[in-house]
Amino acid sequence: MRRHIQYLFLAFNVYIGVRLYLFYSYFLGRGSAYVSRPPSTEAYLPIAALMSLKYWLVTGVFDQVHPAGLTILVAAFLTALLWRRGFCSWICPIGTISEIAHRAGQRLGVTVRPPRFVDIPLRSLKYVLMAVFLLAVIGMDAPSIRAFVNSPFNKLADIKMLLFFLHLSTFSMLVLANLIIWSFFIKNFWCRYLCPYGAALGILSKVGMVKIARDENNCIDCKKCEKICPAYIDITKVKTVTSLECIDCLDCIRVCPVENTLEVKTARLNKVVGPRAYGLILVGGFMFLILLAQITGHWNTNISLAEYRQMVPNAARYGHP
Ligand code: SF4
Ligand code: SF4
Repeated sequence: MRRHIQYLFLAFNVYIGVRLYLFYSYFLGRGSAYVSRPPSTEAYLPIAALMSLKYWLVTGVFDQVHPAGLTILVAAFLTALLWRRGFCSWICPIGTISEIAHRAGQRLGVTVRPPRFVDIPLRSLKYVLMAVFLLAVIGMDAPSIRAFVNSPFNKLADIKMLLFFLHLSTFSMLVLANLIIWSFFIKNFWCRYLCPYGAALGILSKVGMVKIARDENNCIDCKKCEKICPAYIDITKVKTVTSLECIDCLDCIRVCPVENTLEVKTARLNKVVGPRAYGLILVGGFMFLILLAQITGHWNTNISLAEYRQMVPNAARYGHP
């Protein structure tokens, strides 16, 4: 079920990418019919969303330029706070691409497990990146954030991201190719070492209302759970998986041969939550927050079509303020 959900979100991301391209093409006068801009593309503007989150917390004003970006960030943070880090392994399309690459690597027999002395410092990189972004945003005052949010650069940030991918420089191509190639060899390479978003979700997930618990009395120490774990967690050494690296893929539970040994349980009452129920509540809760944002007017941008008509053809001109 997890894989099906991942593929659905991945397909949806391809769909919104194509729509954004058609939206962009329309304003270039290439004869394409008008296609509305998909607000979900703002999911790929997490730093701007982080600034908007600070601005919202400080001033009470919700970003109207990229409200969907802020909504998606808040929804991901809330799911992590309440329901652990399943966003990474059930919803995020980058995690899905990493998994697909690694499965291909397994078929080719080229996968490796990095030694601990390499793995641990590399794992810290994503926390360093997260801290850099967090400190930069914390250091900005509300007027600076407002100026950034309303700048033409930010208004066109999704279009500029599209242009980045349409006109990849040799260096960018090399970086992207490296990220994909390394994912063939090392499980969840991007998520494990470099993703600051995942780092933040991991920290927030410590509060979660659920946990992954192992019953020591039932466990036969076959280590199947450890072999499949994408986060290389020593599951058999603990009663509860508390590692920040756990992405709640629940693969360990899927492969465990002894019933009722490895389970998702509510943190306080120890009630079992089946893996399917876990996934449905996670994805359902995430989608519910998106729907709520759409109903309450926290989804569509306030940038008018006239503004887009004037700005899009000149997108390359607007630099970072
Ligand atoms: S501990 Fe289980 S749920 Fe967590 S990452 Fe490893 S396999 Fe997935
Ligand atoms: S797969 Fe299940 S039985 Fe085997 S070591 Fe892990 S928890 Fe124990």
